[in-house]
Amino acid sequence: MDGGIHGDEVEGAEAIAHVFNEIDPQKLKGVYLGVPHLNLEGFNIGKRVASSIDYTAADMNRVFPGDDVSGKISTTIIAKYVKFFVEYADYWVTFHSGGNTLYLEPIACYTNTELDNVFGSLTYDMARCFMTPFLWRNNPGASKEGSKATMRGLSGVNKIAYICLEMGGNVMFGKDRNKIYDMCYDGIINLMNYLKMTDGDVPAFRGDTIDCDVNYLHVTNGGVYHPVKYIGERAKEGDLLGYVDDVLGNRIEECIAPYDGIVVGTWTPPVIQPREWSCIYGKIIEDKKTAELSNKI
Ligand SMILES: [Zn+2]
Repeated sequence: MDGGIHGDEVEGAEAIAHVFNEIDPQKLKGVYLGVPHLNLEGFNIGKRVASSIDYTAADMNRVFPGDDVSGKISTTIIAKYVKFFVEYADYWVTFHSGGNTLYLEPIACYTNTELDNVFGSLTYDMARCFMTPFLWRNNPGASKEGSKATMRGLSGVNKIAYICLEMGGNVMFGKDRNKIYDMCYDGIINLMNYLKMTDGDVPAFRGDTIDCDVNYLHVTNGGVYHPVKYIGERAKEGDLLGYVDDVLGNRIEECIAPYDGIVVGTWTPPVIQPREWSCIYGKIIEDKKTAELSNKI
C-alpha cells in the first residue's frame, strides 16, 4: 500500500496509517506493508511535487524505478521503495486523488481482465473491493513492453497484482471528506478479507458501477475555467465540457467532448494554467452488462 506519492493527495494515506494501527498481527496472514506518504517533503509543504528536495522538481510518480546513484533525492526514495517494499509485494495498491487542483469521483483502475494473462479477473475484483462508483479499465503492463518506468509497467514486469485508486481531492475542505476517507479505509479492509489475509466477509460488490476508459483532457490556454458539464454528467461527442475566459472575460478556449462519455473529474480552482487538466473524461465501456447497469443511473 502506498499513498502520497503526490504530496497533496492525503485521502488514501490516512487510511493506510489507520488500518496499520488497528491490525492485529496475530490474526493477520501475510504482511501488510504500508507507506502513507512516499513524498513526505511534498506532504510537508502541501504540494504535489517537492521542489525543495532536488534542484529540479521531479514528479515522483514519473521517475520509476528510481535510481540511487544520480544524487536526486526523489529518485533515491523511489529506488529504495522499489528495493525494500515493491520487490516483496504480491499485491500492490497505490492511492492518488485530485490533490489541490482536481476532484475525481472515486475511481479504481484495474487491468483489462480479457488481456491479463497473469491475473485474469483478480485486479478487477481488487478494484471492486473499494466500492467506487467508477472503474477504470487499463491495458496490462506499460505502453512500452517491459518498461519499469511506471508503477503499472513495474507491476507487469514483477508480476504483482496492481491497482491504482483516484479518490476525490480537495477533501480537507470538501463535504465529501468522510465519504472518501471511509471508502479508502473500508476498501483496504475489504481487500484484505478478499485476499484472505484477514478473516472477514467481503460485502457484495456494488451493482451500479460505471466502467470506463479515461482520458485527462488539457487546456492550452490559462485563464478562468468554467466547467459546463459536471461530475457524473454525460456528454455527446462535440458537446461543450467547459471553457476558459481571459482576464477581460473573453472566451478564449472551449473544451469539447472528443467522444460520447461521462465526466469523472474536473479542475476545481477558479484559475487554470496552460496545459493543465481541465476535465477527466470517461468513455463508458459498452459491454452488455455495464450498459444495463449504467442505464439505471
Ligand atoms: Zn497523484
